[in-house]
Amino acid sequence: MAPLVTVVSSPRARLFACFLRLGTQQTGSLQLHTGASCASKNHYEVLVLGGGSGGITMAARMKRKVGAENVAIVEPSERHFYQPIWTLVGAGAKQLSFSGRPTASVIPSGVEWIKARVVELNPDKNSVHTDNGKEIFYKYLIIALGIQLDYEKIKGLPEGFAHPKIGSNYSVKTVEKTWKALQDFKEGNAIFTFPNTPVKCAGAPQKIMYLSEAYFRKTGKRSKANIIFNTALGTIFGVKKYADALQEIIQERNLTVNYKQNLIEVRADKQEAVFENLDKPGETQVFSYEMLHVTPPMSSPDVLKTSPVADAAGWVDVDKETLQHKKYMNVFGIGDCTNLPTSKTAAAVAAQSGILDRTISLIMKNQIPKKKYDGYTSCPLVTGYNRVILAEFDYKAQPLETFPFDQSKERLSMYLMKADLMPFLYWNVMLRGYWGGPAFLRKLFHLGMS
Ligand SMILES: Cc1cc2nc3c(=O)[nH]c(=O)nc-3n(C[C@H](O)[C@H](O)[C@H](O)COP(=O)(O)OP(=O)(O)OC[C@H]3O[C@@H](n4cnc5c(N)ncnc54)[C@H](O)[C@@H]3O)c2cc1C
Repeated sequence: MAPLVTVVSSPRARLFACFLRLGTQQTGSLQLHTGASCASKNHYEVLVLGGGSGGITMAARMKRKVGAENVAIVEPSERHFYQPIWTLVGAGAKQLSFSGRPTASVIPSGVEWIKARVVELNPDKNSVHTDNGKEIFYKYLIIALGIQLDYEKIKGLPEGFAHPKIGSNYSVKTVEKTWKALQDFKEGNAIFTFPNTPVKCAGAPQKIMYLSEAYFRKTGKRSKANIIFNTALGTIFGVKKYADALQEIIQERNLTVNYKQNLIEVRADKQEAVFENLDKPGETQVFSYEMLHVTPPMSSPDVLKTSPVADAAGWVDVDKETLQHKKYMNVFGIGDCTNLPTSKTAAAVAAQSGILDRTISLIMKNQIPKKKYDGYTSCPLVTGYNRVILAEFDYKAQPLETFPFDQSKERLSMYLMKADLMPFLYWNVMLRGYWGGPAFLRKLFHLGMS
């Protein structure tokens, strides 16, 4: 698969990353906890569930606190993925290989990797069970199990992905099918969906629409494409400032948006997608497609849904300011699997990691957590092959912008940040536990302006 756009300006991106690194937390090898080691094959001082963005980041931070030998990560997958880049993989702007690395290479050195799946949590016993029959005990537990993709909740999926003309940027198995469907497009409906559930990166379902539109223009197929965004939501984006900017783009580029439309069935052999009108339950509409991009329904991982740490909806029930569990004081949650009322992104995970680090430090010293998470999250809304609107906002859905310019404007600089700088920052700074989000930059820029 040849990439449409080659990697750009790596030296510049590296320089910028070095600059950013100057402001990150410098905890170094400071050991705040001096208790005796309790590491053994089945007992760890800090046990991390999930080795994704939140799990690896927190393990790196905890290693500095209690020593590598006292930290373990439970994670079954052989490969770790930087998922945000799949938006560009689906549009042919990056290679899939650019997004993944062996899990072994991101586990902080000395930290134990328990290559297994958690199947049961027993917070009253301070233990978890894994699918290889082990019971592992902990003093502190960090839950970072991510969000589950429920393709099978749509009739005809996942088996429908065996057919052409259909893809999904949300899975490593289907992201390249999006690019194939885009290249194979001849004439007809290009349909992009948004499900009736919480999702990770709520901007991604529409980013691929803007990229597809740009691709059709580049390749002279735009006049033959009817581009449709069928979303279960009632709005294009949750923050007014960015929603207004997106609405302008939608009008300028002649894109059709149908609200309250939920994908319930794919007849991939006939290239048909069936949507239910959420305002009139039971009323369905069949769309034929020449290309279909599916954003699957998502939910909390099954292992959490019925566990004692979950809220009624299945998410890890944490305090929204400290990330400490509301009932189990030695249990913490980070990222997509929590009920933090903010948009589920890696950017949010970065900001949460700095807060959670401070929370756990104080809990370990029998003190009350002080640092408060404001819900910071970010969504680089890719609107073309060289354009991004950088949405950044908080719990109140109010913009919380880093840069001293209007981020609701499409910019090349923000595209370069998304495509090159952020991956660099992710692998080299965040996963090593040194990136707690851009709050320090925001302060720096705001000081400069005052
Ligand atoms: C297409 C796409 C585009 C995106 N774009 C952006 C973007 O532009 N900006 C941004 O900030 N974010 C973006 N995101 C979202 C971002 O990738 C996630 O929010 C982030 O990875 C969440 O981190 P996490 O640690 O909560 O979950 P994950 O990184 O998903 O990690 C969860 C881990 O838990 C493991 N796990 C699951 N079940 C078990 C079990 N039973 N036992 C043990 N381990 C288990 C999984 O294998 C996985 O490694 C995007 C995501 C996608 C898919």
